[in-house]
Amino acid sequence: MRLFEGTPFDRPPKCDECGQLEADCQCPLPTKVYKDPASQSARVYLEKRKRGKFVTIVNQLSSDETDLKALLSKLKETCGAGGTLKDEVIEIQGDQLERIQQTLREIGYRVR
Ligand SMILES: [Zn+2]
Repeated sequence: MRLFEGTPFDRPPKCDECGQLEADCQCPLPTKVYKDPASQSARVYLEKRKRGKFVTIVNQLSSDETDLKALLSKLKETCGAGGTLKDEVIEIQGDQLERIQQTLREIGYRVR
């Protein structure tokens, strides 16, 4: 007799959706649902870095509510500038304040 035989611990894990063993499950991964940008406020400001260079910071957005990676890509493309995502803070190279504020408003965010 196996350890745990006849108890819930004996069962191989099964998918809740299709009932297949997890190894056989073909269900798509659940897609993450993000919140409406209109319910979110972003703070956008400039920060001065070494040698007098500026970066434009977008923060106060949550990765649970916004696809920050997709937003970073869009801002980089719009500004034609490099950028990074650190924790939940987007940094875009250069003084892009007005362009970023405008882009965020076009998407629907509230911007401060
Ligand atoms: Zn499944």
